[in-house]
Amino acid sequence: MELTPVAVIRHNVGPIDGLFLFDTLALIMLIQKNIPIAQYTTFKIGGPARYFCAVKNEDDLLEAVKFSKEKKLPILVIGGGSNLLVADSGFNGMVIRNEIKGKDWKEGNDGIVTVTAGAGEDWEGLVKESVDRGLYGLEGLSSIPGTVGASPVQNIGAYGVDVSHAIKSVRAFDTTALGFVSLSNEDCGFTYRDSMFKHEKGRYIISAVTYELSKNGKVSVEYKDLKDYFAKKGNSQPTLKDVREAVIEIRKNKLPDWTDWGTAGSFFKNPVVSAQKFTELKKLYPELPGFTEQDGHVKLSLGWILDKLCNAKGLTIGNVGTYEKQALVVVAKPGATAQEVLDFSNELMRRVKDKTGIEIEGEVEWAVA
Ligand code: NAP
Repeated sequence: MELTPVAVIRHNVGPIDGLFLFDTLALIMLIQKNIPIAQYTTFKIGGPARYFCAVKNEDDLLEAVKFSKEKKLPILVIGGGSNLLVADSGFNGMVIRNEIKGKDWKEGNDGIVTVTAGAGEDWEGLVKESVDRGLYGLEGLSSIPGTVGASPVQNIGAYGVDVSHAIKSVRAFDTTALGFVSLSNEDCGFTYRDSMFKHEKGRYIISAVTYELSKNGKVSVEYKDLKDYFAKKGNSQPTLKDVREAVIEIRKNKLPDWTDWGTAGSFFKNPVVSAQKFTELKKLYPELPGFTEQDGHVKLSLGWILDKLCNAKGLTIGNVGTYEKQALVVVAKPGATAQEVLDFSNELMRRVKDKTGIEIEGEVEWAVA
């Protein structure tokens, strides 16, 4: 295995107009060959990257793309690697680890504060700082592993809050037009746990995201776990900090510790079905929970279906299973392969199809080249 750099790119980084990276030193970016990428993913699974580099600013990113284009390499961009399953054969292309940092807070009128954060910033760090500053908007998204750059791609959400509500714009390198672009919230085409970035796969490499937060917001505590938590505490008017603490505690008790297990959190999306399909399923399974969306469709709790109908909560096959406290979360023991995870997920898909007729969709990105 070759671990030596195949390319060393030097460039000077000065203040970039409208951005927040201020470093006038000559920086070096290494492009390396045959680097194991399992270590950069929370599943801790997958073979090597043919080429690998960590980009710390937009100039690095440009160089990495240029290098890949010259060699006609497919590109895989990773942040925290928390929603990713890499093939056992690895990635026969360029893996770019986005480590672009920086946070720029700007106070506007009417208690609105915008923050532009580098795509490589830790998501949880951004949420913590926003709550510490007394800003509403991200508190329900506490304790989610990953980076800022991944938040618009997946339109991350929890406890009734989707990040799309807070995103003002996204700055990205457009690998088709070969330039940096600013995309508005509308351009991003956000839907449930989905965005245009997933459909125009590989076209945009996000370098920064701007969020709009408020000093005068309201907390959302509609989800049962949150309601129960505050009822138990006798807290009828939870503050911003209370909600963040509650989410952290609930998630800690319900989800696996990412440092102990190989996992990417929820492996599938909750299915959304027509009202008619929901009525049919309710006849078969009267206790099936469903949440009616604004457009009349009904979102089903896949965790419940896997647990109660498919007998899959805590199910283990070989090195892979569902988490004992939440069946929607697939966990892998050390030594598990990507193939085992795929086989296991196919088994879950088969069981759900048998019981409900629904073809469920993965939430985790499958990286193979
Ligand atoms: P939960 O509260 O047990 O609820 C089960 C499912 O029912 C959730 O997935 C949720 O959909 C839906 N739901 C519950 N109450 C709802 C309401 N009042 N209105 C609309 N939908 C409702 O779920 P959980 O597993 O403990 O997760 C809690 C939250 O964290 C959820 O929002 C979940 O999506 C999120 N989460 C995400 C990941 C990930 O890796 N992506 C992992 C764990 C948890 P939604 O999923 O649409 O909220």
